[in-house]
Amino acid sequence: LVSRKKKPENTIINLKGEMIGDGKPHLVFGPCAVESYEQVATVADAVRSKGLKLLRGGAFKPRTSPYDFQGLGLEGLKILKQIGDEYDLAVISEIVSPSDIELAVEYLDVIQIGARNMQNFELLKAAGAVNKPVLLKRGIAATIEEFINAAEYIMAQGNGQIILCERGIRTYERATRNTLDISAVPILKQETHLPVLVDVTHSTGRRDLLLPAAKAAIAIGADGVMAEVHPDPAVALSDNAQQMDLKQFDEFMKELQSSAFVR
Ligand code: PEP
Ligand code: MN
Repeated sequence: LVSRKKKPENTIINLKGEMIGDGKPHLVFGPCAVESYEQVATVADAVRSKGLKLLRGGAFKPRTSPYDFQGLGLEGLKILKQIGDEYDLAVISEIVSPSDIELAVEYLDVIQIGARNMQNFELLKAAGAVNKPVLLKRGIAATIEEFINAAEYIMAQGNGQIILCERGIRTYERATRNTLDISAVPILKQETHLPVLVDVTHSTGRRDLLLPAAKAAIAIGADGVMAEVHPDPAVALSDNAQQMDLKQFDEFMKELQSSAFVR
């Protein structure tokens, strides 16, 4: 169902007027994790002031260590919903359990399925059974074929509103957190009709590589870029080495716009 052979034209997903898959790059920013209303509102304000419409933030955080901050859960979803309404932004957040999909439908504009859950087939089926866009991230050790099959699981249940997200894969290279598989973008665009985003934060894990990786993603044909922004990354409860602060976010946007990568 996700194959371009079955449907030659691009799938376009309308998120508060941002048409993801229309051939122009769309940008998604927001903190790694929702920590408080004020923290998310500060970022939402910055996102809005640049004319952007898409906000991300994790409420359920799938952390490598059980002792790390696990997210605010339902409270985080409520904060996102409130801020989405107040700032007129489409909000995107990860859901990790099939039983929380119904909650997501109530509070979110996009259900994110994270890298660690790309082959959680019950979660894929639950997300496929609702009428809500899904942002599906590539698994840490998933081949492109496995990634496409994960999307197929969602669409097989009836939900065709799927955005694919390349977020880097694990290789022997240690200079970056993961290895951004940039060629996955045109392959996914050729083989499927779905929009493809590139997450420059989790793929590189390095603040100094966010901008060049974003330019590369757009140049190679990605439908958009996701990156993490936090008011004060040094005190962030997760991913403090790679989130941009507001000044860096400003510079990132200026550079992308002046180099004509985005309008
Ligand atoms: C995220 O985007 O918040 C995240 C945890 O990313 P990933 O699932 O790609 O590791
Ligand atoms: Mn993160």
